[in-house]
Amino acid sequence: MLARSLIIATGMKRRKLGIPGEERLQRKGVSHSSVQDIALFKGLDVVVIGGGNSGIQTANDLNRMGCKVTLASKGKLIGDRTDIDELKKSDKIEILEGYDVLEIQGKEKVEGIVIQSQDIQTKRQILCRGVFIQIGLLPNTEFCDDLVGLNEKGEIIINPDCSTNIEGIFACGDVTNCFGKRIVIASGEGAKACLSVKKYLLQKEASHAK
Ligand SMILES: Cc1cc2nc3c(=O)[nH]c(=O)nc-3n(C[C@H](O)[C@H](O)[C@H](O)COP(=O)(O)OP(=O)(O)OC[C@H]3O[C@@H](n4cnc5c(N)ncnc54)[C@H](O)[C@@H]3O)c2cc1C
Repeated sequence: MLARSLIIATGMKRRKLGIPGEERLQRKGVSHSSVQDIALFKGLDVVVIGGGNSGIQTANDLNRMGCKVTLASKGKLIGDRTDIDELKKSDKIEILEGYDVLEIQGKEKVEGIVIQSQDIQTKRQILCRGVFIQIGLLPNTEFCDDLVGLNEKGEIIINPDCSTNIEGIFACGDVTNCFGKRIVIASGEGAKACLSVKKYLLQKEASHAK
């Protein structure tokens, strides 16, 4: 199919750990989506992986659901102060900073995880029924990474009018380097990209007519 212009609006996908058990036990105790799955783990022992806002909020949500929660993070917790305070107040949440996850274990469903401290001094098995992986998002740009300019995070670099470094290609929403990954912002950027394409095509038409 031929097109005179293109808007890329492919959003982001959840980052994965790439460790044994992660794919095999997906939807058998492994979750990358706290919003969808949290209710399924009411009252169970769970591990949340990731010490950013998403991980911290997920740990607090699970704690409110009566779960015994372990939060394992590569580095120090980075998140909103109020969420971190809530987390630290609970005696049912264990916080493990400076740990890598090596493996998610289980035959038919999740039975535990193995973690290792980053100084390689401590290796621990934690028995659990659920593992929530909350380690961030990646822009869906694999299909266009040799086409348009990307920043170091893999986001498409756009100008204020949503144009890219390639004439006729525009981009909008979470896949771009625009500030604020929110629905209202992505929608606005989408409208802006459409206006820019219209302007671009009209200018093209006018220049051909001359
Ligand atoms: C768990 C979670 C909770 C959130 N909660 C909120 C919230 O409460 N409030 C808020 O404002 N924002 C929230 N957000 C952020 C919000 O969802 C995004 O900012 C918004 O959806 C971005 O819109 P988008 O159109 O850029 O991308 P998306 O909504 O991600 O849409 C991208 C689309 O492109 C498709 N796609 C991907 N790759 C390709 C390809 N190669 N070819 C064709 N199609 C492709 C995808 O399947 C998808 O349909 C949340 C995000 C997550 C992950």
